Amino acid sequence: MQTKTQIQELLEAAGVKPNKRLGQNFLIDLNLMRLLLDSAQIGKNDIVLEIGCGTGSLTEALSEKAGQVISVEIDSTLAEITKNQLAQAENVQVLQTDALKNKNNLNPVVTGAIEKARNKFSGKLLLVANLPYSVACPVMLNLIKSEITADEMYVTIQKEVAERMTAKPDNKHYGTLSIYLAATGETKIIRVLKPKVFWPQPQVASAIVSFVRKKEKTDKIKNMELFGEIVSFLMCHRRKTLSGCVKLATGKLENNKKWLEIFESCSINPKARPEKLSPEDYIAIANMFDQYPS
Ligand code: SAM
Repeated sequence: MQTKTQIQELLEAAGVKPNKRLGQNFLIDLNLMRLLLDSAQIGKNDIVLEIGCGTGSLTEALSEKAGQVISVEIDSTLAEITKNQLAQAENVQVLQTDALKNKNNLNPVVTGAIEKARNKFSGKLLLVANLPYSVACPVMLNLIKSEITADEMYVTIQKEVAERMTAKPDNKHYGTLSIYLAATGETKIIRVLKPKVFWPQPQVASAIVSFVRKKEKTDKIKNMELFGEIVSFLMCHRRKTLSGCVKLATGKLENNKKWLEIFESCSINPKARPEKLSPEDYIAIANMFDQYPS
């Protein structure tokens, strides 16, 4: 782990300053870095994915615990610093690339590295990271709904995103991310963090959050892709009534009569609004949608 002075020296030696656009706010409170690390309870057979390794402060600590660490960094100068810092650590792979291919897909370079690591390590896949704020939500969503799913996630993110992750129906923060997380696992806010624990200080508070995937929950979702499409479609019109929303459906979701029958068989009032439906309601609707004839 690196102190603020050590990070500043590494950047100065490389002739760069923190890039605000890339969310380069380094976690400099090492007690909190330790809390993030200890929360994850990483084992020697686990694969850890770190998105945004910066100068390698957390990476070094992860390498001491994990079977394999896959660290992704978009900034070529910082990726180079981490490679140099971790040159002796045989279990660290630094990928200098964007973690995402696009909003809906992780970069295949990253998923390819995970698949390769899985041939060697049979433990859990964990996301442990001080996430860059701009990609935090798509990274976590992709690790929930894609073919490669994280068993657990331990991340620092904006407090506002943490609130969205843990929000309940009818709360103003309740959204697609809240529904996905609640439908597939358990999310907890471990600690709220003041801006001063980062350098440079961000404008807003952050939080350490954990997510643990639960098989008993994911098993209930028959078709994850369809579940996702229905959640996104309905929550896009969150304040309309369900009967009003479904008139706007297109493609395979377009079938007004079928929707109304589905709501009835799930005992959901078609006058209810998407923002009031529970994650269980969304699972019931998606599972029923596949069973009902078009
Ligand atoms: N891991 C360091 C720490 O704990 O202090 C730095 C974390 S800093 C909040 C986020 C890092 O993510 C930055 O180094 C930034 O360059 C990198 N980053 C930003 N966007 C990225 C992306 N799309 N893919 C991969 N890395 C990205």
